[in-house]
Amino acid sequence: GRVEPRFRRVVLKASGEALMGEQGFGIDVSVVDRIARDIADARSLGVEVGVVIGGGNIFRGVAVASKGGDRVTGDHMGMLATVINSLALRTSLVKIGVEAVVLSAIAMPELCESFSQRQATSYMNQGKVVIFAGGTGNPFFTTDSAAALRAAEIGAEALFKGTQVDGVYTADPKKDPQATRYERISHERVMRDGLSIMDTAAIALARENNIPIIVFSIHEEGGFGAILRGAGHCTVVDD
Ligand code: UDP
Repeated sequence: GRVEPRFRRVVLKASGEALMGEQGFGIDVSVVDRIARDIADARSLGVEVGVVIGGGNIFRGVAVASKGGDRVTGDHMGMLATVINSLALRTSLVKIGVEAVVLSAIAMPELCESFSQRQATSYMNQGKVVIFAGGTGNPFFTTDSAAALRAAEIGAEALFKGTQVDGVYTADPKKDPQATRYERISHERVMRDGLSIMDTAAIALARENNIPIIVFSIHEEGGFGAILRGAGHCTVVDD
């Protein structure tokens, strides 16, 4: 029989670094293809998926600022990097027959449509994967904050944060073999203990809007779908 997914509408956040695979920079298309397959799997369950991809595999604003350059320009460069990644994901999705659109927070009509809450909601209702590019469109923010913001705007039931490991641990599981994974933890506790799963602005925004954050491994093929089916490994951050 058909599995009832845990959520109807979600936002998936992946860092830019998740796209570069074993390379030190840029985009490994085979990795983007794999993430696209995981999104297709979620769509096959009927889940509406919005996606925010970071830009850290290409550029981060602090790289300019730390060398005495203008931070705002650096952040503009970082936001452009997220557009490159978003276009890469769109093409991987379309290649396997998944309808997908890129909506950018910064207008660039020759490349993609501009973001509006109305347009995003309309596409999601049609079952299209909506990729939110350009972060929030503002310097001094991150794509984590953009993901929480878009999740709130489109009424997502959960924010899936893809990370290097399959959840939030008591210590770094790569360094401490005794570290254990939390099944659940509160937004408040995450902020108080400074657990670095997302920046504080993103966690605060998710908490204020009662959006649980599902921390899971972006590297595990099928992991996203498993959690949507009520299985799989993750940590649920909620109150
Ligand atoms: N950025 C920004 N405003 C936003 C989102 C991103 O200025 O709303 C810039 C910022 O310079 C950031 C870069 O884009 O360093 C890439 O985003 P992020 O660092 O969040 O990417 P990730 O770490 O997820 O790959």
